[in-house]
Amino acid sequence: MSYVTGLRCRVCGQAYPAEPLAVCEECFGPLEVAYDYDAIGRAMSKDRIGERQPTMWRYRELLPLDGEPRVGRDAGFTPLRPAPRLGRALGIERLYIKDDSLCRPTLSFKDRVVAVSISKALEFGFEVVGCASTGNLANAVAAQAAQAGVTAYIFIPANLERAKVTGTRIYGARVIGVRGTYDDVNRLCSEVADRHRWALVNVNLRPYYAEGSKTFAFEIAEQLGWQSPDAIIVPMAGGALLTKIHKGLKELERLGWLPAVRTRMYGAQAAGCNPIVAAVKEGRTHIVPVKPDTIAKSIAIGNPADGPFAARTIVETGGWAEQATDEEILQGINLLAETEGVFTETAGGTTVAVTKKLIEQGHIRPDDLTVISITGHGLKTAEVCRVDEVPSINARLSEFEEILEAEEATGVVASTPSVHPDAYGRSVSSEL
Ligand SMILES: *Cc1c(COP(=O)(O)O)cnc(C)c1O
Ligand SMILES: [Zn+2]
Repeated sequence: MSYVTGLRCRVCGQAYPAEPLAVCEECFGPLEVAYDYDAIGRAMSKDRIGERQPTMWRYRELLPLDGEPRVGRDAGFTPLRPAPRLGRALGIERLYIKDDSLCRPTLSFKDRVVAVSISKALEFGFEVVGCASTGNLANAVAAQAAQAGVTAYIFIPANLERAKVTGTRIYGARVIGVRGTYDDVNRLCSEVADRHRWALVNVNLRPYYAEGSKTFAFEIAEQLGWQSPDAIIVPMAGGALLTKIHKGLKELERLGWLPAVRTRMYGAQAAGCNPIVAAVKEGRTHIVPVKPDTIAKSIAIGNPADGPFAARTIVETGGWAEQATDEEILQGINLLAETEGVFTETAGGTTVAVTKKLIEQGHIRPDDLTVISITGHGLKTAEVCRVDEVPSINARLSEFEEILEAEEATGVVASTPSVHPDAYGRSVSSEL
């Protein structure tokens, strides 16, 4: 049973029935899902949620499905880990990471949005699904289309990381590499969606797709004992995740499950693709598109669909936005791995590097309850990571002892982190 009352234009407020629609016919604004919160409040309580299975579906009253999920049944409910060693390195006391590098089935938060949108596509009767993707969405759509046994057409920029292409093709999906940027891919997909009756999850099913992101926020609140943090740092591609995390927190407030939400939303982008960061810094909400040039390909969207909404959410919540160079992104990946044992992809490196800057700038204070959003696994972008050469020896103790002696002599010991946490202290901040 669903509590959806319909779709609503996010710009002019026009109401629509809950159909496979994404754009307002009056003003071309994007549509979003509307719910009857009073009915949800009567039907559900946060205590009852606590008794349910540890997946994103424990919040199903706040998701737009009529029936049971058909795919992605084990998605979500990823760890919220205290990150004391990273916190010490960055100079804050109460730091957590929300770790969607462990989301099922494909190790990124995109499993959440796809679980909702493909399940909804099946409810609508679509027999072919697909997406325009920067990589993680491709993985998630391919895997979950395989779970449902439906055909998937997946459009990606032709220069994507090898592991992301393999991690899509392996499920039997049709993958089309488009020579161009994500924005070219997306434009092509809009034309494809007009021509074929396919559910392109982030194009013609976008309102349903975006709802899945709210579960990231629901989990953070529940895992903190039904509190909202002071600050959340979120990597931004199209800007939907940041916007929907805040929508999710406000929904819990509205249900009376959270006290007044004062969470400040902070956005992270790569310097090589920073249209939302630039808007925030220049005090505007309209987006000036850029041509992406960064190793953080999963968040390289030059003309972000939810950019204006993300910029507004950041400003209205008292947050801020920052960017990280490719060098800083790589250092961010290493820092998280070496302090917390979490290997994230380039988007996560961006988020860690940006968090460091926001703390240095005083936007995030040492005692703020702070959550860093880690949205994808590092093995997916391992090709850009920097690690030291690995010595190769014969299986003789004497050869190993030689290596140890050499390392002791030079002061480089095998277990010494390549990026020592102290190197990230506030006193030497200019290095990052
Ligand atoms: C897609 C993606 C994001 C951001 O998603 P948007 O909702 O488009 O802003 C962040 N991190 C990773 C790893 C992603 O794949
Ligand atoms: Zn409208």
